[in-house]
Amino acid sequence: MRRKLVVGNWKMHGSRPANAELLAALIAGRPYAADVAVCVPNVFLSETAATLAGSELRWGAQDVSEHEQGAYTGEVSAAMLAECGCRYAIVGHSERRAYHAESDAVVARKAQAALARGVTPIVCVGETLEQRDAGETEAVVKRQLSAVIHQLAHCASEIVVAYEPVWAIGTGRTATPEQAQAVHAVLRAQLHAATGRGHTMRILYGGSVKADNAATLFAQPDIDGGLIGGASLKAADFIAICRAA
Ligand code: 13P
Repeated sequence: MRRKLVVGNWKMHGSRPANAELLAALIAGRPYAADVAVCVPNVFLSETAATLAGSELRWGAQDVSEHEQGAYTGEVSAAMLAECGCRYAIVGHSERRAYHAESDAVVARKAQAALARGVTPIVCVGETLEQRDAGETEAVVKRQLSAVIHQLAHCASEIVVAYEPVWAIGTGRTATPEQAQAVHAVLRAQLHAATGRGHTMRILYGGSVKADNAATLFAQPDIDGGLIGGASLKAADFIAICRAA
């Protein structure tokens, strides 16, 4: 049985006072039946680590450099994230793919860099509305995941996959549980064919998950939790989503 995982992706939101309030509420909301994590802006990682240390809540980053170290201005390495106690690093979020031109190959190298330092990558895949309308959803997500699987061919470590249809992110237009489940089943079969342990790997759904739709999404057999954007910024909403898992 896979344990559910709910991850808040704060994106470029937060401030020291707001974070302190939100994290205190998450701590007060324990215990959760699911694993719960927050992926915060890098500048807040140390404080988040200090606040959450000793709780079972986890934290992580929203991106990671593909490089080990060196002259890469503005980049943050997996070793640095590990030093801040990061359990997770999101890689290949559609906003990174779209605004920073990250290719499947770059995403795969980032996933590998994270794993090499003991940080679990949360690998995001998802189609645009045009691709869905053209009937390309399956081909697109399989191509995105295959790049990562190929790079990690001999890796026995944990990876988390997040299916985030681009048209559902920040739009209030959630994929139906059936739509999401169908893609998750495809991804699990692909993971299983490549590694032989697809049944143990967690596949999260992301895209306009809210307190009122989380439970039906998480009830699908291949949906193992969620990657939550907007609703992870409000303590009551995020706690309700965590409790739905
Ligand atoms: P929303 O929950 O705001 O739609 O964002 C989803 C997302 O992109 C999480 O990574």
